Amino acid sequence: MKIDAWLHERLDSVKEAGVYRNLRTMNGAPVPERRIDGKNQTVWSSNNYLGLASHSRLISAAQEALQQFGAGSSGSRLTTGNSAWHEKLEKKIAGFKRTEAALLFSSGYLANIGVLSSLPETEDVILSDQLNHASMIDGCRLSKADTVVYRHMDMDDLENKLNDTQRYQRRFIVTDGVFSMDGTIAPLDQIISLAKRYHAFVIVDDAHATGVLGESGGGTSEYFGVYPDIVIGTLSKAVGTEGGFAAGSAVFIDFLLNHARTFIFQTAIPPASCAAAYEAFEMIEASGEKRELLFSYINMIRTSLKDMGYLVKGEHTPIIPVVIGDTRKTVTFAEKLQDNGIYAPAIRPPTVAPGESRIRLTITADHSMGDIEHLLTSFHSIGKELHII
Ligand SMILES: *Cc1c(COP(=O)(O)O)cnc(C)c1O
Repeated sequence: MKIDAWLHERLDSVKEAGVYRNLRTMNGAPVPERRIDGKNQTVWSSNNYLGLASHSRLISAAQEALQQFGAGSSGSRLTTGNSAWHEKLEKKIAGFKRTEAALLFSSGYLANIGVLSSLPETEDVILSDQLNHASMIDGCRLSKADTVVYRHMDMDDLENKLNDTQRYQRRFIVTDGVFSMDGTIAPLDQIISLAKRYHAFVIVDDAHATGVLGESGGGTSEYFGVYPDIVIGTLSKAVGTEGGFAAGSAVFIDFLLNHARTFIFQTAIPPASCAAAYEAFEMIEASGEKRELLFSYINMIRTSLKDMGYLVKGEHTPIIPVVIGDTRKTVTFAEKLQDNGIYAPAIRPPTVAPGESRIRLTITADHSMGDIEHLLTSFHSIGKELHII
């Protein structure tokens, strides 16, 4: 097979570059203690921040909706796929994000592509943070507007670029709320005041912040008490299910429903997923307990690792990047963690800059004190062994 020979060659170069990817089989529900490829591990890389993905209330809600509405939605929202559950969930999300309306997509990825490819026009420009998620980058690529990248959270650079782009009809600033590799929080208050001054629109992708940041888990906007024009989000992280959304004014949602191709030409997510996500939002709104527990863990782990002498990046979010530096050492570190039953990935170039290889930990409310103690003693002993601390 000629095509296979060609593909082998292309994959070989991926392997040579040390960035070959492969799958691992995770058994059972998405809780911290799992069997991965047949070995018991504690997972420190899940996005299930509040532990809702395996919660009995979400499972029951989904089961009930499954019985009543079936396994699939049967069509796009505009044909036969729309149900009362989709509408109920959208109202819930709009309330939660304090916007007039919201629209579901099949994923956060498709929400970003749908919004960015339809909203800005040829005579517009998108100002995009350097570390934005791949789905925003792809959305920019599909957009008819030009894209200008500004340095990560650098407000001076953003202002310069707002100054330099006055010839465009409209400017859209797009940013992650919480950045997935660095655990940094976009300074939304400053971004929005710059946007006001320069008559730009702000689009925030709050995938990692929804359910996590802010008094009631409302995300980056609630955290700063400022509200962007458009919020994108996912139901696949703290909300514990699947699907994505865009939230904003009623006319914006009506616009998307008529223009966003990833909405129009995609099968609606199953009503059962909507029912589970709805239940998750009810729980997120009703109680801050899980969030409080999560942040007490975050504080404890960040402080302990720093006290040991590690370079811990980011801010108080569930994403804790521990910079090791050298790529080979970081890979060895991750292997030794796995030998200790700790599953946390080594993040290397090109995902991060050379010399900034790191172990990326994500913390969930489902972890136990025992898990945390084991994590910290392992970081201590491996760090000493590899002469990192
Ligand atoms: C995870 C993530 C997405 C993708 O969401 P899915 O629902 O998994 O497609 C989009 N943007 C950001 C910033 C993310 O972290």
